[in-house]
Amino acid sequence: MADVSLKRIRLTRGIKEELMRYYAKTGKVAEGYVDHLFHKWEENKEILVYQIEKKTEKEACGIIVYDRAGSNIEEIYVKDPYDPKEIGFSALDELILLHSLVSVTPNDEDFQKKDWLIEYGFRPFRKIKEGPFVREKLELSTVVYFDRLKEHRQIKPYRKTEHVVVEKVNPTQSEEDIFEALKGIFEKLGGIKKYVKKGESVILKPNIVADHGMVDGQYKGGVVTDLKLVKALIRILLPHASKIIVAEGSSINRSATTKMFRIYGYDKLEDLFPGKVKLVDLNTDDTYEMAVPFRRRMASRKVPKTLVEGDVIISLPVMKLHFAAIVSLAIKNLQGTMPPLEKYMTHFFGLWQNLVNIHYLVRPKLTIIDGLIGQEDFGPVSGVPKVMNLLIAGENPVACDAVCMRIMGLDPKDSPPVLLAYIQGFGPIEEEKIKISGASIEEVRNPFRLPEISMKGGVNFKIHSQGACPGCKGYLHFALHKLRRPDPKAPERLLIDRPLDKIINIYVGPYEGREIKDNEINIFVGTCQLHNAKRGIHLPGCPPHAEVMIKGIFQFFPDVLPPKYADDTEEAKLERMLGEVLKGL
Ligand code: SF4
Repeated sequence: MADVSLKRIRLTRGIKEELMRYYAKTGKVAEGYVDHLFHKWEENKEILVYQIEKKTEKEACGIIVYDRAGSNIEEIYVKDPYDPKEIGFSALDELILLHSLVSVTPNDEDFQKKDWLIEYGFRPFRKIKEGPFVREKLELSTVVYFDRLKEHRQIKPYRKTEHVVVEKVNPTQSEEDIFEALKGIFEKLGGIKKYVKKGESVILKPNIVADHGMVDGQYKGGVVTDLKLVKALIRILLPHASKIIVAEGSSINRSATTKMFRIYGYDKLEDLFPGKVKLVDLNTDDTYEMAVPFRRRMASRKVPKTLVEGDVIISLPVMKLHFAAIVSLAIKNLQGTMPPLEKYMTHFFGLWQNLVNIHYLVRPKLTIIDGLIGQEDFGPVSGVPKVMNLLIAGENPVACDAVCMRIMGLDPKDSPPVLLAYIQGFGPIEEEKIKISGASIEEVRNPFRLPEISMKGGVNFKIHSQGACPGCKGYLHFALHKLRRPDPKAPERLLIDRPLDKIINIYVGPYEGREIKDNEINIFVGTCQLHNAKRGIHLPGCPPHAEVMIKGIFQFFPDVLPPKYADDTEEAKLERMLGEVLKGL
């Protein structure tokens, strides 16, 4: 790798001439393309131009034209006689340190450049027509992004120290015990008036993901935000707030939020606090279209009106593991704020970045993690309850997640969305930048048992997953696990070991697929494998949705009823709606 640095320069006529010479040599790119680019760039105030210089020789060896507002490399060009890969890879390493996750839009006909960009870790996402010219948008694999970053440095060091309270709750966990613990939290954080001014409306965003928390009519704990916590918090807030809205949009079976409110007893809240408390299903709320700063992965999101118009948002996640995101805490809890199609689209365009993007648009003033009963093993809905008797609270979601993960025996960098939020400057994970009051981490640490995620294949099922992140692995495990049961045609063997006409290879993560055998069946999973899509079956998403994974794998067992993750008619409707969105891009 070359030792290069990036130096900001102005867009000059000299650069234009160099680019014209470069494209003249490729012989394929239509005339007028460079004029078209320059016209666009000169109009765009967010364009930054970097000269790539070899550190030792201070020699100019290439140019990057970068659109800061869209996190997109408009042009990257390495001069002759320099090796585009050697210089280009090093320049890209420098650029992602400055600007985080980026995309790139080379000319569709510039095959040589596309090849080395793909080798670096970009993946062809979609074609963009600009007048007579076609460009291809390539998105950087998030795994490659994490792997290439040196020590996961933040784009801008987070200067503030954040405060997180770890409050123990009496093990009887009565509403009064929780009320007392909440009082303790607000005292330590500087008083309730710091968060809610007289007459303000407060939105409580619990986690009510699905109905898996009920066993024989009883709530087993660790799946949804405990109703006692919500009730105690409402009692504390009501002397200050004008009204309180409890707002959620369930994630599994998205039309079922009202049913979830009823199952878990939330529907009683309106009668308990008449005229003061209202329940809102965010899946059916009106929305505002809001632009996402830096437009990473998605340019805008539809945000429910209730969240935009409310004065104060308090997020109430549950202390639980997540088989794909590692944890579902403060960063992950905001996924429930998005309308159904937005939730579906986040998987397609990239869940990790889109979870971070939501934090630009929905900004909770406070997070209180429900650690009364957590959930270990195969969370967020099928795991095992774990009694913790804790509440963890703070203003910064990244700091709250970092403290909570350490209590759960995890490294905050283990969760892709938490790591991404940290790198992109949403908060600190470093112990020295988080002041903890109440109990110390050491005092309450109680490691959560992680789910056993198996990438073991079968007689004819070969899994290639080196370097994949927990996202694809978690969802693939979910689908494969359903094949590890007796084959109805021959119960002495497992379905996954059923003899098939051809070997089925499943490629996951950005580094697999270098030795694809075209005479076998090849399934390529996720954005990281998009570059191989034409060589077999591609399962889109980052990570692909559970239904996409199940459909992709169970198509080889037409006699077996595929397991249901969610209501498949709803999923099919969302898939069609996503298709319409993609057509319009
Ligand atoms: S979730 Fe899958 S596609 Fe996305 S970064 Fe991880 S391995 Fe790649």
